[in-house]
Amino acid sequence: MNSRWIPTMCYQCKAECAILARVEDGVLKEVRGNPRARGKACVKGMAGVSLEYSPDRLTHPLKRVGHRGEGKFEPCSWDEALHAITAKLRELRDRGEAHKLTASFFPHSITDPKWRFLNAYGGFINTALPHCDSAKIVACIKAMGGVPNHHIPPNFASVPKGGVIILAGRHAMGCLDDAAVPRDILDAKARGAILVVIDPVFTADAAKADWWIPVRPSGDTALFTGMTHHIVMNGLHNKAFVENWIREGDFEKLKDYLADKTPEAMSAICDVPTRDIVKLAEMCASAPSVGVDSFKGIMLGQALDFGHAWTNFLAVTGNIDNPGGQPLPDLTPLSPVLPAPAGPSLAEKGWHRTGPDKGKFGKYSFIMEPTWYEAQAIKNGDLKVLVTAECNPALTEMGQEEWRKAVTMTDEKGQYQLEMLVSYEIMLSETSRYADYVLPDKSYFERWELLYMPWWYNFGHGVALRQPVVEAPGECRHSNEVFIELGKRLCPEYFAFKDDLEYYDIQLAGLGLSVGKLQDMGGLWSPGTTGFRKYEHGGFGTPSKKMHLYWEDLEDADQALPRVFLAPEYDADADAFPFFLISYRTIFHQGSGQWTHNNPQLRDPVGGFLDNPVLINAATARRLGIEDGAVVTLRSRTGSLKARAKCTERIRPDCLGLHHGFGSTVGRVAVLGGGVSDNALIPDSGMTLDWQDLVGGESHVSTRVTVEG
Ligand code: SF4
Repeated sequence: MNSRWIPTMCYQCKAECAILARVEDGVLKEVRGNPRARGKACVKGMAGVSLEYSPDRLTHPLKRVGHRGEGKFEPCSWDEALHAITAKLRELRDRGEAHKLTASFFPHSITDPKWRFLNAYGGFINTALPHCDSAKIVACIKAMGGVPNHHIPPNFASVPKGGVIILAGRHAMGCLDDAAVPRDILDAKARGAILVVIDPVFTADAAKADWWIPVRPSGDTALFTGMTHHIVMNGLHNKAFVENWIREGDFEKLKDYLADKTPEAMSAICDVPTRDIVKLAEMCASAPSVGVDSFKGIMLGQALDFGHAWTNFLAVTGNIDNPGGQPLPDLTPLSPVLPAPAGPSLAEKGWHRTGPDKGKFGKYSFIMEPTWYEAQAIKNGDLKVLVTAECNPALTEMGQEEWRKAVTMTDEKGQYQLEMLVSYEIMLSETSRYADYVLPDKSYFERWELLYMPWWYNFGHGVALRQPVVEAPGECRHSNEVFIELGKRLCPEYFAFKDDLEYYDIQLAGLGLSVGKLQDMGGLWSPGTTGFRKYEHGGFGTPSKKMHLYWEDLEDADQALPRVFLAPEYDADADAFPFFLISYRTIFHQGSGQWTHNNPQLRDPVGGFLDNPVLINAATARRLGIEDGAVVTLRSRTGSLKARAKCTERIRPDCLGLHHGFGSTVGRVAVLGGGVSDNALIPDSGMTLDWQDLVGGESHVSTRVTVEG
């Protein structure tokens, strides 16, 4: 028997932890964390074996034969599929509409071949991650001049005794993090760190916390601003950092702005008692370090304002790039693959901005547009070809019906308004049912990939190799291979290398490495240290080389400093819809992809998470006469659904909680499990387009609902 452990990278979720895969006679048997890279794998990661051998795996290209959405396909050859896609893209470019190609995918590297293709061809990326943290990334760039770590976590392994760890809407011990993070948080706690969890739901993190603060949804911007007021107005700020590292004049502007943002005033917004805001502020001001790990705003789309309040708070407490604070990553010096395509001028092309506020907000970009814009852009005629890879917008998106309607819209001649939809997946999904061509992707156990971003928690700012550990079934091809093939056909000047491996070899040359050498090294390269206070050598990446607390480019949108009010979605319709709908997470599922929802180990009534009951505070349930386990109806302004009630003390009385991502209708395991999609309740775009734009397009889970027994 030939059995060995092979280092590679997990992709059951986007954390992409370093793992070891045990392969026995060519068959994947087992997965565990790679001890060389901080060594953890979560339950989803270990269930990757079931994913690999799922009977639902796609193994041949498919061509649509019915209407979009019917899911009727017949097998076709790769030649036929690639010929059709190439012809459509050639036609689009000849019409001067190359920018009307968007690909929705998660770019595993900022040098990913898919991204290169888009830049070379003239289309652009849309990450399909509207509920992710792109607005906070923007906040980091604006304030500190650098791209932050993935999900912007502090380096928990460096938190000193007495350091404060704040998890604000983070669910680090649920599904939203690298598998090593919970261990590092608990290790830090064991060293004497203080864990504070700010969340409307009592999460697994809250169960481990020293202090749970059940903030009102959307109130986190006000909470952090109230703390910043108390710290600054009482002279508790880090004077050396403020004097040396904040741009001249910004601290004074911040002080003026803070004048009326007292803890009392902020308490009225965030529903955290004034004394608790003051207590937490003083705890943070006197701690040796404070690290704030947060996601978007708490469960809603006020993310850019929150990101701004978060950077202000970290700046005045001096917690930038210190042990336990907010790291500033470096970029690994990979070699460019020349000639490097510049990409289209998106500011000129319009960013797919839509709606009544397009003129006002068109100049702003959040780098990665949320998938929601796809639907609007199709309706406007701004998007003509859509390629999805590893994402499921037909189920993931708020107002998911809008996406489905948009991709099936026809013009006066009966032609689809979206001229081509291509889906890469390892299994059929709700999205692929709408595709013209469905292309069978390789799983993460079958493909080469160079993972390089400035944000991998597990291995610092290095490079990691994903390598095939087993053979792919049937005719599967990895999307990177296919994009390179399309590049050779459509823009060969940028695709002069032989294949994906040669592409990665060129990039690795900057480190004196190659794919083969990296493989020999166990698939991981790291500088060995992240370093602290890197800004002391050359300053921040901002034009002034200091931190920018005041964002003048957002003056005309009244966002030069963070707005502290609740999201309009949460203020509107409060009488008719008295509850805040919020999303919670568990360790078993990630997003709405089939990978976890169609996995028998993760979708199981005993060991996994079969359906998503609606969490209702027990007192609220008593008041409404709702019993635990009863089927209730949730209604919003735009939709309704039925779900099983889970009566619990673990959620605020004014909130209802649904695990995001359920509602699958495709996949033999997924359809057996219960569960509903929260998106059925969430209005398309949140509530208002103008609000949607500058908060970062993340008004994903901001809606008011009512519940009836
Ligand atoms: S957190 Fe779990 S599922 Fe996600 S990459 Fe890490 S091991 Fe895999």
